[in-house]
Amino acid sequence: MEPRTIIEPFRIRMTEPLPVSTPDQRRQFLHAAHYNPFLLRSREITIDLLTDSGTGAMSAAQWAAIMTGDETYAGSESYYQLRDVVQALTGHKHVIPTHQGRSSEHILFSVLDVASKQVLANSHFDTTRANVEYLKGEAIDLVIEEGRNPGSEHPFKGNIDLARLEDHLKRGGDKVALVLMTVTNNAGGGQPASLENLRAASELAHKYGKPFMLDAARFAENAWFIKEREPGQQHRTPREIAQEMFALSDGFTMSAKKDGLVNIGGLLCLNDDDLAEKARALLILTEGYPTYGGLAGRDLAALAVGLQEVTDEAYLKYRIASVRYFHKLLDKLGVPLMRPAGGHAVYIDAGALYPQLKPWELPGVALCNELYLEGGVRAVEIGTLMFGKPDQAGGHDHTAPLELVRMAFPRRTYTQSHVDWLGEIMAEVVARRGKARGLRIAKQGPILRAFTAQLEPLT
Ligand SMILES: *Cc1c(COP(=O)(O)O)cnc(C)c1O
Repeated sequence: MEPRTIIEPFRIRMTEPLPVSTPDQRRQFLHAAHYNPFLLRSREITIDLLTDSGTGAMSAAQWAAIMTGDETYAGSESYYQLRDVVQALTGHKHVIPTHQGRSSEHILFSVLDVASKQVLANSHFDTTRANVEYLKGEAIDLVIEEGRNPGSEHPFKGNIDLARLEDHLKRGGDKVALVLMTVTNNAGGGQPASLENLRAASELAHKYGKPFMLDAARFAENAWFIKEREPGQQHRTPREIAQEMFALSDGFTMSAKKDGLVNIGGLLCLNDDDLAEKARALLILTEGYPTYGGLAGRDLAALAVGLQEVTDEAYLKYRIASVRYFHKLLDKLGVPLMRPAGGHAVYIDAGALYPQLKPWELPGVALCNELYLEGGVRAVEIGTLMFGKPDQAGGHDHTAPLELVRMAFPRRTYTQSHVDWLGEIMAEVVARRGKARGLRIAKQGPILRAFTAQLEPLT
């Protein structure tokens, strides 16, 4: 019989101490951070679930590659190692390194000239939308209905609505610049898109003569969900599935800080020679020479290894199971959750947990503060502080549709006992849910206020 416990498929040979603090210290730290967890320092945090971006652990093989990275300015061997690995995985001809995903996005949308044109996506991630809009394009989200319903258990909530996609392609004509699929759909809770949906979206884009691109930050997690959930895919390896996903596309942007298993890096890959030439010209202007693109040779070498490790079945099985395990733990505690568990994070409906708080009293931030005070745990609000706007007339803020808290898991970083401990912290927080207090914004910036806002607890 197979054991029921899915173990971490690695042993640990290098450790980093977890900062611990007393409740009194945490009260002081949070006060000094103006009750905004973004403003905490890492040494004040015991378990950090702010993001899975660039926060994971590299393997011994990756660290070994770092030592042999080739720092030649032009023609680095590390570049050619990375190029070969990426071509074998994706089939794409042109492999362009960048320092992270958002610079790939900026270059792609510039060379596809999205100005006064539309980008049709399942959902745009926030930097993706910001780059489209900065270049005067229009970012249109067409995720399926179920993808917008937190309670739906649909297995592929990251799917694009094909009828609406075709409608936009038909009506948009020359106004459509490209079709973009984010896998997994980060803005929609780390939910996957199915292979069937990707095939159909690719076909539609090509029928109307548009490039079909992927935002492939979590391509391996998406491939694993396809293997687990999509009829007929169980016999294939995650790598074979990922290869098909890439083969459907004309190119992709990738933040390597997620499924690249590195702390910094990005990729822009294209099949079209003319587009690639334009992209490289812009890369030289903004990132660096085409064989390093804003990274050190050692970064390229570590990424080449990471992209081979990430499709390992034992790794993906553990990765998805550990997030699901935490989701189940919270579900048993009666915490209102987005369903099903995403690939990289668990999303809590803080508005439902704290019905006594109005959206403009920031229930998501209230929950983040409770988690921090209880255990030094950092999570991030995805609600009115992040997406709301002050009312010019001086009334309550314009609020977000949902008051969520995201707990994102760095890769290969925490173990099952850390997750069990998180469950105990959450149980305490749930037990005193009736006493949670809201917050008001004391100071905020004009854009992306969540990152810097100063808050005050309401009495
Ligand atoms: C993180 C992310 C990006 C942006 O990448 P950076 O490396 O942070 O610049 C783009 N799209 C998705 C889906 C992401 O998760």
